[in-house]
Amino acid sequence: MAGNWSSLNRRGLQLVENLLRVRKRRMKNIIDEGHVLNYDPLHGRNIHHSTTCYAPKHSMAGILHKNVWDADPELFELMKKEKNRQESGLEMIASENFTSLSVLQCLSSCLHNKYSEGMPGQRYYGGNEYIDEIELLAQKRALDAFNLDPAKWGCNVQPYSGSPANFAVYTGLLEPHGRIMGLDLPDGGHLTHGFFTANKKISATSIFFESMPYKVNPETGFIDYDELAKNAKLFKPKIIIAGVSCYSRCLNYKRFREIADENGAYLFSDMAHVSGLVAAGLIPSPFEFSDVVSTTTHKTLRGPRAGVIFFRKGVRSIAKDGTKIMYDLESRINQAVFPGLQGGPHNHAIAAIATTMKQATTPEFVAYQKQIVANAKKLCAGLQERGYKISTDGTDVHMLLVDLRSFGITGSKAEKILEDISIACNKNTVPGDKSALNPSGIRLGTPALTTRGLVEKDIDKVVDFIDKGLQLSKKVSAISGPKLVDFKRVLNTDENIKAQVASLREEVETFSKQFQIPGHEIY
Ligand SMILES: *Cc1c(COP(=O)(O)O)cnc(C)c1O
Repeated sequence: MAGNWSSLNRRGLQLVENLLRVRKRRMKNIIDEGHVLNYDPLHGRNIHHSTTCYAPKHSMAGILHKNVWDADPELFELMKKEKNRQESGLEMIASENFTSLSVLQCLSSCLHNKYSEGMPGQRYYGGNEYIDEIELLAQKRALDAFNLDPAKWGCNVQPYSGSPANFAVYTGLLEPHGRIMGLDLPDGGHLTHGFFTANKKISATSIFFESMPYKVNPETGFIDYDELAKNAKLFKPKIIIAGVSCYSRCLNYKRFREIADENGAYLFSDMAHVSGLVAAGLIPSPFEFSDVVSTTTHKTLRGPRAGVIFFRKGVRSIAKDGTKIMYDLESRINQAVFPGLQGGPHNHAIAAIATTMKQATTPEFVAYQKQIVANAKKLCAGLQERGYKISTDGTDVHMLLVDLRSFGITGSKAEKILEDISIACNKNTVPGDKSALNPSGIRLGTPALTTRGLVEKDIDKVVDFIDKGLQLSKKVSAISGPKLVDFKRVLNTDENIKAQVASLREEVETFSKQFQIPGHEIY
């Protein structure tokens, strides 16, 4: 009996000792590494609750479980500076926006870790049951956001961004050196629409395909559809691209369709800039007339940096003998994206597309898009009242192009002085500019400001800041002469000018800091 007891006691003691050792080891792990894995990014702190899991103890654990501010203070300092810049300045770059907290959370989620080459249900990697569901959800919501019938339209949500999406469209639809026509870059088109100069093929689109640009009328600033129709008859493109990066008016998709039909071309609409306005139903939709539509998801749509391609499905036309000719765009575009051009989809971005497309169907989103346009119109009217010339004399959308030729300041100088007073915008060519290297205008957009909650009365204030900045640039230019380097030197050295810039900058920053940026909690 006694022997039994003592052996039992010994076993019991051993058990207790073992338990204590394990616990000590665990405690030591926590103390050693100092990291608990349940980090709450929303509140920027660790969560302590009963299911806390412990950091593994191996050689890399120190790197793996540190917050970025501990792991890489040098980098984090720069991130903080950029965040401060975003918060203290007025963001008027027409292609930029502040995305939502939920999009930022998708982007920094575990979805980033997964490989999923192929399409949902047909992957080259295992473990994709949830990724498949996420991608299908993103596809379904993308179609819903633009009111598309899944029997007539499909989409690919894998493109990494707008430029890869467009290249996939060309790759899927054209042979090498196939012909395209897009709006010329200096006239408001995008690089990917085939830009080349006399000396150089700039965009890969113009290297691997043959492009002929169409233009805006240099007097009015409106797209010259008649000239496009004439040139298309001669050039016989296989694709006509309807899309803009700097054009403040609605596009005439019906006219584009007619010109495409006259030449047996596809109509490809690139709605990158305006897709938010299209989803909200505020401007004509390209879907009624197009064969293929691409978009970025980070501009007016306010989602992640990514791209989506929409393609028609079903019957394309009926032959004379009554047989149906079907669209074959789905397989051509899907295969151009992968395996043609890309590898593993960015699943964190695809999830973020899904949540963006959900937002795009809400009344709040429609109200936001309406406010973007109201703000752009207010900005336009305010600048016109102060004597500034606006290309096409107005705007239908989220942006406008200020023609500074009569004002007497170049686009580069205007962009520079506005940057110095914490207003971000782009220099841009205006219709009729002789050189793309010395543009005569600036492009201003309202999507980002509107996200921060600015409304018409605030835009009055913004107009005032821009006007003060541009008036100041005239003074600087009078001292410096025509060259940009001299202009910059005066800005850096003239004490009187420096004081005026600093005071204006402070005014702008004080004003700007009142308006919150979504996702403030996440670095
Ligand atoms: C912004 C833009 C693109 C390209 O988007 P990225 O995401 O910068 O590659 C393509 N087309 C148009 C019309 C654009 O404005």
